[in-house]
Amino acid sequence: MAKFEYAPAPESRAIVSLRESYGLFIDGEFSPGVDGRAFKTISPATEEVLAEVTEAGPADVDRAVTAARKAYEHTWSQLPGKERAKYLFRIARIVQEKARELAVLESLDNGKPIRESRDVDIPLVAAHFFYHAGWADKLEYAGYGPAPRPLGVAGQVIPWNFPLLMLAWKIAPALACGNTVVLKPAETTPLTALAFAEICQQADLPPGVVNIVTGAGETGRALVTHPGIDKVAFTGSTEVGKEIARACAPARKKVTLELGGKAANIVFEDAPVDQAVEGIVNGIFFNQGHVCCAGSRLLVQESVYTEVLAALRRRLETLRLGDPLDKNTDVGAINSAAQLAKIRELSEVGEAEGAQRWSPPCELPVKGFWFPPTLFTGVSQAHRIAREEIFGPVLSVLTFRTPAEAVEKANNTPYGLSAGVWTEKGSLILWMASRLRAGVVWANTFNKFDPTSPFGGYKESGYGREGGRHGLEAYLDV
Ligand code: NDP
Repeated sequence: MAKFEYAPAPESRAIVSLRESYGLFIDGEFSPGVDGRAFKTISPATEEVLAEVTEAGPADVDRAVTAARKAYEHTWSQLPGKERAKYLFRIARIVQEKARELAVLESLDNGKPIRESRDVDIPLVAAHFFYHAGWADKLEYAGYGPAPRPLGVAGQVIPWNFPLLMLAWKIAPALACGNTVVLKPAETTPLTALAFAEICQQADLPPGVVNIVTGAGETGRALVTHPGIDKVAFTGSTEVGKEIARACAPARKKVTLELGGKAANIVFEDAPVDQAVEGIVNGIFFNQGHVCCAGSRLLVQESVYTEVLAALRRRLETLRLGDPLDKNTDVGAINSAAQLAKIRELSEVGEAEGAQRWSPPCELPVKGFWFPPTLFTGVSQAHRIAREEIFGPVLSVLTFRTPAEAVEKANNTPYGLSAGVWTEKGSLILWMASRLRAGVVWANTFNKFDPTSPFGGYKESGYGREGGRHGLEAYLDV
């Protein structure tokens, strides 16, 4: 199938006014770091430097935690829920007002297609604040007792794949429950968190309730190990998650971890093929596959393998890779040189282990970090590409004959974050869902998110839930 010819449709970046450099957001103000260190954040699509950002050291983290403690004790925990709710509603509305600016900024700093930041990330950010604003004055009805208490100061560390959305998942429930926060965004994507700091100022949020400390892994380590932190929330790699769990255990901090995944997307022979192919594409090529719950292992029933693979290849030939700010783009840039190197390495391992690699014809831009949509067939369960999180646009295809075999293969992973099932039979969906060891099982869809729905994993995918009533538990003393 030939690609339609589309004229370029770039979203204007004029709506974003970047500062040359950004300080740390502590106690309601931007301030320089104590030791004057800084790093640059770049556009992964062009390698252009976007801004210089302060690297927070231990003394800065300490300032931020002190500010958060003061705000917790004197202001935020004293406010009735209905007053906290007003701030959260205000933040949600400002996010909506600035939606276009935030979407462009996110696509610039992260490399994700504007279609996704505009239609998925930013609307969900607003939805998370609206949803948790609704909870702030109703916590006694959440099932955690008549007067549930907040925990205190939350230290939150987030990754680069959904920068502003992960911030919303962390900050909205924390504030709704009466906690204050110090949040560290990922080194490669700090800009929307800093834009959020400006939104907090615009919303007149009391100083110290939200503090943003930029930096790399060392800043994250200083934050989660700070003795003034009562609760740690982390999203990122399983390796770092384990380190954090070990570091926090002696201090008995409450910890929630949302870690990696290697989800199975399971297609039965009675599934509508075109619909399933859309779900497979959305499952692994959405956000360049930088998704912890990505459907990175496709399990296809043997009887429809040839048909599904042919349809999938045809569909991949129509995907457009390129400028993240172009509204026609389906696949944007890989977030960093380091992530690109990891995807390349694991793909080479896949070939060396004997799997067959295929990508549609696809011209990659010369500058920036790019990887074509890639399929591996002939994959066995022992292959590293079937076991390890690649976190890129790479799909491993396996087959099965019976539902029991599908369950066994799907569960044959150290992870357990999500799974997808494609079939017309409701009874088979329920049978599968009750046997799959995954926090979320999508039926005839994939990568659907909603603030009312708890999200989280089993096994090495972490513990604790985010979203819904269950997500409140992580921020309450229960
Ligand atoms: P990390 O787990 O290293 O990063 C996640 C966050 O933790 C970032 O803000 C990072 O800072 C910070 N961090 C790093 N080290 C520490 C530490 N010792 N203590 C506290 N915070 C720390 O993930 P990477 O970005 O290195 O990605 C590596 C792999 O992890 C990916 O290839 C992917 O497989 C997986 N991953 C999974 C994610 C998920 O959503 N589950 C998200 C991101 C990655 P900084 O980025 O500034 O170094």
